Amino acid sequence: MPKAPAIDQQKLLDLQAVDIRLAQLAHRRATVPEQAELDSLLAERRRVGDVLVAARTLVSDGERAVAKAEADVAQVRDRAARNTARLNAGSGSAKDLQGLQHELESLVRRQGVLEEAELEAMEKLEQAQFAAAELATTDGELAEQAEDVTRRRDAVLAEVADEERAALARREAIASGIEPALVQLYEKTRAPRGGVGAALLRSRRCEGCRLELNASDIAALRAAAADDVVFCEECGRILVRTGESGL
Ligand SMILES: [Zn+2]
Repeated sequence: MPKAPAIDQQKLLDLQAVDIRLAQLAHRRATVPEQAELDSLLAERRRVGDVLVAARTLVSDGERAVAKAEADVAQVRDRAARNTARLNAGSGSAKDLQGLQHELESLVRRQGVLEEAELEAMEKLEQAQFAAAELATTDGELAEQAEDVTRRRDAVLAEVADEERAALARREAIASGIEPALVQLYEKTRAPRGGVGAALLRSRRCEGCRLELNASDIAALRAAAADDVVFCEECGRILVRTGESGL
């Protein structure tokens, strides 16, 4: 049976408390709600970014379509103007003038159709520009929110890091006051037991596994010397005996 001064065994409870605090801090760091919030904001921003790229492509397509429609209209308008000028000049045969007049009528109809198309292209472009502007605004808002959440997350992480530093210093101070062999035994015991290696025996109940010891275990504990390191028969943790143990 391993041995260690009873006072050192009792210090294991302080060490255990600090280790539980450290585990809580590690858990807190791993589950900072601001991180989940940030992850979902960034995912949303990527989604909006993709849609924004598509919307901006629609805007460039729309700008090209409007430019082409404008050029089409201008071409027909110029030709109609030339025909009108020649008609007004009245030069050429009557047949030529009739042909010009006929072509002019057809150009005017064509211009009407093209102007209609130009108007449609401009409306489509306006819609695309509006959608792109809305998405750009949303993207900007998401970026601001992400910055804000990042600041809050970093504040929490800094707080956790401060507490961790303090807990580690406390741990060092406690561990240095315990026989190294007992600290080693505690480490070996707690590793496979959820980080809990030492438990107080309080009113005949192991605080590690919450089970009450049976009569024969109690008898064995009563027979053990104060510097015997004893273990819980149920969970295998070091059982620390104090005045509260009910022995
Ligand atoms: Zn136990």
